[in-house]
Amino acid sequence: MSLLCVGGRNIKENVTFSEVKILDNGQPRKINVSTLTRGFDTYYHLKGICTAFDISFAYVPAKKRVLMNKGVNSMRLTVGGEPKLKEFFVYYDKKYYLSAGGLNHVFAGLMKGTVATDKKSKMLMINYTAALKPKKAIKIKPGFEIKNNNIRTIALLKGEKFKVERIILDPGHGGKDPGAVGKNRLQEKEVTLDIALKTAELIRTKLRKEVILTRTTDEYVSLQERTAIADKHNGDLFVSIHINANIDREAEGTEVYIYDIAASDKKSGRIALRENFEFPGTGGIKSILGELGSTSNDNLSIMLAGNILDNIVNYVDVESRNKNMILRAPFYVLAHSAMPAVLLEIAFITNKDEEKKLREGDFRNSVAKAICFGLEDFIGATENPEKEELAPAADVQTKEHKKEGAKEE
Ligand SMILES: [Zn+2]
Repeated sequence: MSLLCVGGRNIKENVTFSEVKILDNGQPRKINVSTLTRGFDTYYHLKGICTAFDISFAYVPAKKRVLMNKGVNSMRLTVGGEPKLKEFFVYYDKKYYLSAGGLNHVFAGLMKGTVATDKKSKMLMINYTAALKPKKAIKIKPGFEIKNNNIRTIALLKGEKFKVERIILDPGHGGKDPGAVGKNRLQEKEVTLDIALKTAELIRTKLRKEVILTRTTDEYVSLQERTAIADKHNGDLFVSIHINANIDREAEGTEVYIYDIAASDKKSGRIALRENFEFPGTGGIKSILGELGSTSNDNLSIMLAGNILDNIVNYVDVESRNKNMILRAPFYVLAHSAMPAVLLEIAFITNKDEEKKLREGDFRNSVAKAICFGLEDFIGATENPEKEELAPAADVQTKEHKKEGAKEE
């Protein structure tokens, strides 16, 4: 006999895999999804709902963490970790079930939607912004031409292992390019290098993985050279380290980015423009980035971003600037890395308190530790993936349609 937990109370299970009637933006539709009933309440298997609505879904067993993304929106849920969802979730047999109220939270975050039930017809009524159309899925057919990294991502999504042997650390800026500068003259390039060197040391000694740095001294390395270094050394993961800046000196906190041709919001776009500064006024950034096929690393990048952000928030004396959100922006180094890649904006050098922290060795050590823990979590989750909860390969999505989603913002 097994028990399950609803908002902390144990009850007996009643799980069925069945047809669920929904009103999908007013259109009647039937989907097959596992449901769990408790009294008069019905809970829906979250992954099943995500599949039906073309929401990409990944599960990190070690953290009981669900990572979802739709268009330019990402969302992370920790099973049992959201006070808001306390009454709305059931975790049973390694599956995450949400009631209509819980799904309402997910659809609000990912698709500006609402979810309600019609008591009479027992129908789920799901409404969301129409512009966020389902994206085209890559169909995996025999003979389909896929690049190395696609194969790895697809393999992982099927429950196979993703092996990390070599990590590329990219300390932002350097030499003639100081990056952002604080009011008290602290330079981004110095902080990013120190944090990267500390992180590299931890990765080598604690994780026993190989590390390649795109620079180890105060030298200028172009953005192209950085990605060329990553590719030449066959990196498995790419982590770019930066320090944020804002004309608003109150701005503070950590941000973690993954690549997208379109920014999550205007602010993210501005940050990407600043970090891409080597290509000002070419008007070509978008077209350069548009040619790239790094899409298939999306899910892995989201996982990596989530793991690192979690650990920064847990171990570093800094707040998450965007609660639980992983941001997307067209950073050059992310676009051009043929591997799962994230860009960290650790804190704001333009904020007086954070500039002070960024000078401190202890603070920098804690950042290095957090990045290392994040990598460790990622490696743990991908080397021992849980087959059951990972999204099917058909959920690997193309980038094209994100442009449409972006207009939405
Ligand atoms: Zn920077």
